[in-house]
Amino acid sequence: MKTLNFVSRPHLATMETTIFTVMSKLAADCGAVNLSQGFPDFQAEPALFDAVHRHMLAGRNQYAPLAGMPELRTAVAAKIEALYGARYDVDSEITVTAGATQALFTAIAALVRPDDEVIVFDPVYDSYVPAIETVGGKAVHAHLRFPDYAPDWDEVTALITPRTRMIIVNTPHNPTGSLLSTVDRQKLANLLRGTDIVVLADEVYEHIVFDGAEHASFCADPELAARSLVVSSFGKTYHITGWKIGTIVGPAALMAEFRKVHQFNVFTVHTPSQLALAEYMQEPARHLGLAAFYQQKREFFRQLLAETPFELLPCRGTYFQLAGYRRISDLPDREFAEWLTREIGVAVIPISVFHHDGRDDRVVRFCFAKQEATLLAAHERLRKLGG
Ligand code: PMP
Ligand code: GLN
Repeated sequence: MKTLNFVSRPHLATMETTIFTVMSKLAADCGAVNLSQGFPDFQAEPALFDAVHRHMLAGRNQYAPLAGMPELRTAVAAKIEALYGARYDVDSEITVTAGATQALFTAIAALVRPDDEVIVFDPVYDSYVPAIETVGGKAVHAHLRFPDYAPDWDEVTALITPRTRMIIVNTPHNPTGSLLSTVDRQKLANLLRGTDIVVLADEVYEHIVFDGAEHASFCADPELAARSLVVSSFGKTYHITGWKIGTIVGPAALMAEFRKVHQFNVFTVHTPSQLALAEYMQEPARHLGLAAFYQQKREFFRQLLAETPFELLPCRGTYFQLAGYRRISDLPDREFAEWLTREIGVAVIPISVFHHDGRDDRVVRFCFAKQEATLLAAHERLRKLGG
């Protein structure tokens, strides 16, 4: 086909394909065990699928309301009140989205004006900065520093200017597995007091927090909740990343702006799945049991990795385990991840891609949301690296 002679938008000219797609494809091409992109390789419960099917057969197949099915928004409101003690209005403060990615993108598109600054923390989840740049905003980078990946609130304070419109936080944190504490949350509340800065809180791993730690949700602090949009994803919680359904909650004024954009880029999300999720959420053990379920997998996988030369970092939440590889190789992390995939047969994610300055601490990310057989197959290959 004859190619059109057009010029890319500046920020798209140099944009690469997301590392998750790159590494999953390489894993498939090489027949590697894929511990790169984050998704479970086990099934959700049949009850969830039965419910979708039942709602389809019952004729619930037409557009849901713009904000999402009331049944699902009601269930979400009840969960948030039970867990975080906050009341969100079902009609004006909760919206169902096509996954967390869309919620994040739409929130940024609705609130960030051209030349506004948005503070993000490196290593930063890869969808935030492209979204900011697509709407003409400017990402300003704070840092979570290796090896504990804790925020430096003095650094954040120094980055705030009159142009700061938003700060994006992510806890539990992908890719590092670190958590914000309630003390961190309080420090952020203190430094935002008296400003009009909005918080966009990505809490997609809210139920995957280990060792009895508390998830410091931004819903749970009334002062912060008044300036926050908080994002969740059913994909992580119910082992259905391919369904692409999530939620965003926040004060009515912010949500009204969010919906102005949402109505014209998504309008509304798959109806029978929303009804099925609303039913499925009625049993809280399903989300409350997730931490113990994944903690057991974390223990299993850490024991396996401990028999290899990888150096394990702490994993306090999420289904990701970071590991240093200096005892194995001097390669930069991207090359190391490719080598490990091609030559050893285990695919991982390099962390430098989440640093805007390319910082490389020689660390890679493993996803342990896998059946034990998959983790054992990876271990069998990683053992070739020695003990
Ligand atoms: N934020 C973070 C931190 C994530 O890890 C992910 C998915 N892995 C998302 C957002 C996107 O979630 P969804 O698949 O629901 O769009
Ligand atoms: N968020 C998932 C991860 O961290 C991947 C999602 C995606 O592929 N965009 O691996």
